Amino acid sequence: MSTQEPSAISPAIIPRADHNISRAHISENALKVLYRLKNAGYEPYLVGGGVRDLLLGREPKDFDIATNARPEELQALFRNCRLIGRRFRLAHVHFGSEIVEVATFRATQEPAHDEDEGADITHDGSGRILRDNVYGTLEQDAFRRDFTVNALYYDVRDFSLRDYVGGLDDLRAGLLRLIGDAGTRYREDPVRMLRAVRFAVKLGFRIHADTEAPIKHLAPLLADIPPARLFEEILKLFLAGFGLQAFEMLRHYRLFDQLFPRTETALTTEEQGFPHTFIAKALASTDARVLEYKPVTPAFLFAALLWEPVRQQAAGLQAQGVHPSEALRRAADEIVSEQITRVALPRRFATPMIEIYQMQPRFAQREGKRPLRLLSHPRFRAAYDFLVLRAEAGEVERELADWWTQLQVADAEAQRTLLSTASHAPQAGHRRRRRRRSEAVRPA
Ligand code: ATP
Ligand code: MG
Repeated sequence: MSTQEPSAISPAIIPRADHNISRAHISENALKVLYRLKNAGYEPYLVGGGVRDLLLGREPKDFDIATNARPEELQALFRNCRLIGRRFRLAHVHFGSEIVEVATFRATQEPAHDEDEGADITHDGSGRILRDNVYGTLEQDAFRRDFTVNALYYDVRDFSLRDYVGGLDDLRAGLLRLIGDAGTRYREDPVRMLRAVRFAVKLGFRIHADTEAPIKHLAPLLADIPPARLFEEILKLFLAGFGLQAFEMLRHYRLFDQLFPRTETALTTEEQGFPHTFIAKALASTDARVLEYKPVTPAFLFAALLWEPVRQQAAGLQAQGVHPSEALRRAADEIVSEQITRVALPRRFATPMIEIYQMQPRFAQREGKRPLRLLSHPRFRAAYDFLVLRAEAGEVERELADWWTQLQVADAEAQRTLLSTASHAPQAGHRRRRRRRSEAVRPA
């Protein structure tokens, strides 16, 4: 928290004429909620990313509302309202597929997905907030938020902005700054370190020197965060169109090591840079898909991020005489079991991820009926995309990926030709890079 006493602070009030937020850019449903609150005599504020993004001329992902109405009062006011969260209850007002989140002002921030229950604010030994069911005033609500640019309030009663923390100046300067003492705020909730990276990359902002300074040192605190919460954060970091930059920045601040320790080890020990090239290509292609509104899946993302540790593990097992496909299966199981102690990976993504791996050696089998059978596999497309990335990163021959590209578009006649030439093709599924230490996946 700030060293200043929040109640002693009066906000800067920016009248409608002096800012660019227009109701035309706020979703109709968010406006409905704001006006209903206003008409019932409650304080109706738009806050958080919605205000920040509108001020920047960007399209907000969603609209968060803050008010002095209590959860029970919200439930009485909105029929389409569900209260969520066991400890600190938030109201979700449902309009078809759009959810408007309404939070009662509070004095401190509860880390999401934390299951503890209790009545007061308590800290664990490291300063992490475990329980905080304390409602607060508007000022307190402003000071418990993370970054100054996330703590601007738009008042639908007179269309003014309220700024308690210098957020508007920071926004104009493109500066991401934690409210209060950075070390304290990260200890309260270490996920704020990941949020700093996410907003810096997403908005193209600089992280203020004071906000940046403690990160490398405090990164290990992420070990205390529930894996399910980290999974959610990882999706926001890697599947929102700026994954490659997020990856580089997470590594820079030693945060990546906390999330994917085996991958980080592979990245630092592999002298030829292949894993880095491969992950960078995977993230760049995922970013491109997001920007084209194509679907992306956590299964493919995690397959890419964990590939090198899986390959290395499989190579070790093969060296002990385990059959290649069995080695790959076991390696994937082992790496995934280890990984999910850090970051959750729901079964519905882990299963297709492992299928992507298991199909890789099958691409090298180009004779007989096997290729056409593989083509009709429900996971073919994802596995093929993965193969193309491996080829682009120089892990397998380009020729192999090209052959599968052609097979997909070929008519029956052309397929027969491809299949017959395949039996004469050099057995070159795998390309040998000089001085490579691990060769996990070999064609049969
Ligand atoms: P976006 O929705 O674009 O990802 P956002 O800023 O709206 O960004 P949310 O996670 O939706 O982020 O949170 C809404 C607001 O709640 C934030 O702007 C911030 O004010 C506050 N907030 C969220 N998480 C935290 C946290 N861990 N610590 C303090 N405040 C937080
Ligand atoms: Mg938001």
